[in-house]
Amino acid sequence: MSENKKTGGCLCGAVNYNFNESSVISAHHCHCKDCQKSTGSGKATIVIVPEEALEIVGNIKFFTVTGTDGGHVTRGFCESCGSPLISFVEEMQGVKFIKAGSLDDSSWLKISSNFWSSTARDWSPIDESLHSFSQNPES
Ligand SMILES: [Zn+2]
Ligand SMILES: [Zn+2]
Repeated sequence: MSENKKTGGCLCGAVNYNFNESSVISAHHCHCKDCQKSTGSGKATIVIVPEEALEIVGNIKFFTVTGTDGGHVTRGFCESCGSPLISFVEEMQGVKFIKAGSLDDSSWLKISSNFWSSTARDWSPIDESLHSFSQNPES
């Protein structure tokens, strides 16, 4: 039991997850249109963690779309309350993207960059203090 264990979950409490802070790879704001649609907001903020570092309890419903660059993006929601919790890209094996807002305490989080600044809306502008990619970053 480590003191840097981070926990999160959905609004109704049916789904919970945890991972160690030391396992976090990076975190990003994504302003793509699909993230706007799926969150109902101006952007999604995601925390990239290795799959093996993540423990999830509860039932998640998944929905997959083909992104603009041909990648297959799957987004997971609590099947009871619909809270967006997690996503992953078929072509990026071994990592999961946690929705930062679902963390119980996200005060520790440091954001690295903005994705899809090209589709950021005036009412939800990019963080100008961070590096921005106009679309997805080069992989
Ligand atoms: Zn729920
Ligand atoms: Zn996105």
